[in-house]
Amino acid sequence: MTRAEASAAGLKRYFTGTSCRNGHLDDRYVHNGGCVQCGRDRKAKREKLYPERFEAKRKRLFESPAYKAKRAEYKRSREIRLRGNGVSIAASELSALRQRHGKRCAICGDKSKLTIDHIIPLKAGGKHEARNIQFLCQPCNSSKGARPMEDFARSRGLLI
Ligand SMILES: [Zn+2]
Ligand SMILES: [Zn+2]
Repeated sequence: MTRAEASAAGLKRYFTGTSCRNGHLDDRYVHNGGCVQCGRDRKAKREKLYPERFEAKRKRLFESPAYKAKRAEYKRSREIRLRGNGVSIAASELSALRQRHGKRCAICGDKSKLTIDHIIPLKAGGKHEARNIQFLCQPCNSSKGARPMEDFARSRGLLI
């Protein structure tokens, strides 16, 4: 996918299928064409150089009433959504499900740091139930974000 196509489709990120000049096979940002992983690396580097700056910023953010309100609101709406979408899953059921999925990331097969992902996002009316749940490693989950799986696959060129 080209940057122009992604922009026309209203996407924030797109996937070119080629590595950046630092060898990252990751999404690019539509707004500047930059590699997402390079951006993360740059941020990590800055954080290493000026840890106190980042620490202070985080602290300010966490303690700001706006942030607290946002978090509370997020939690509340998520709970309502989970309940409203009906089905909830017991922890034991989840671990059985993870077992059935081979305890690996559904996208890259990695076995570490698995997180729960809703194939159809809860926001889009997906249900919190076994057949709508897959396990993704943290990097894949954060790169998929809250997009429906279909959109994500398309951005990776896996679906037309
Ligand atoms: Zn890169
Ligand atoms: Zn993965």
